[in-house]
Amino acid sequence: MKQVLFTDLDGTLLDLYDYSYDVALPTLEALKLRNIPVVFCTAKTFAENKYYRKELGIEDPFIVDNGGAIFIPDNYFSFGFECKKKDNYCVVELGASYAELRGALKEIREETGFKITGFGDMTAEEVAANANLSVDKAKLAKDKQYNESFIFDEQKEKETILFEKIREKGFNSTHGGRYYGIHGKNVDKGKAVKILTELFEKEYEEVKTIGVGDSKNDIPMLKAVEQPAIVKNKKGAWLDISLSNLYKAKGEGPEGWVEVVEKFIWIY
Ligand SMILES: [Mg+2]
Repeated sequence: MKQVLFTDLDGTLLDLYDYSYDVALPTLEALKLRNIPVVFCTAKTFAENKYYRKELGIEDPFIVDNGGAIFIPDNYFSFGFECKKKDNYCVVELGASYAELRGALKEIREETGFKITGFGDMTAEEVAANANLSVDKAKLAKDKQYNESFIFDEQKEKETILFEKIREKGFNSTHGGRYYGIHGKNVDKGKAVKILTELFEKEYEEVKTIGVGDSKNDIPMLKAVEQPAIVKNKKGAWLDISLSNLYKAKGEGPEGWVEVVEKFIWIY
């Protein structure tokens, strides 16, 4: 049986504040030794995923922009399937284009007067300061294709109106640990996980999927895997969700991540 790990990045494998992951390195090494696919399933962009894949030495497929697209390295699977070629990847595109998403946010801002600031409205320096990133990494974070992240500087009650407006315009929204996100209508992490799981099943027949996350935008992913797990957030609390079979790690962020992997994956 092939175990496949789907993992969120921010607040899960990476620390929400400083993006550190040192505590997870030995476990990542063990996963690599055992050939267990580590599939990033994140709101992060293609450019950011590329950075962390290199940094962590991960060569498995990955899901970007909250499920906006799946990138599969060429020849990763032994069979062919429908996709778009980009660099050395086969891309399954699911999301709306960045221009459409930016347009919808602009309209909502005009219609409601809400203070909405997208990554596209900020300079790399501003994103760097806001997200606690280096300017170089902020540039990677701004390089969005199927998702826009934004700050919603309004009272929490107005969130309902915001979400409704986004739906009206034919798009979908979510909230990660740090930012709000707008993306294509039928797009979420779960749909992308299901498509990728089918490909893994075609390759390995018997597959067991494990998913680990920390926030609301992870719920569709958690519902799409066999073994869902969540880690604690910076407040020391878990995401408010009831799912049968859900494992709640005692650790926060990457520490909880290690706990989940050690509990459900045969790495030693
Ligand atoms: Mg997260």
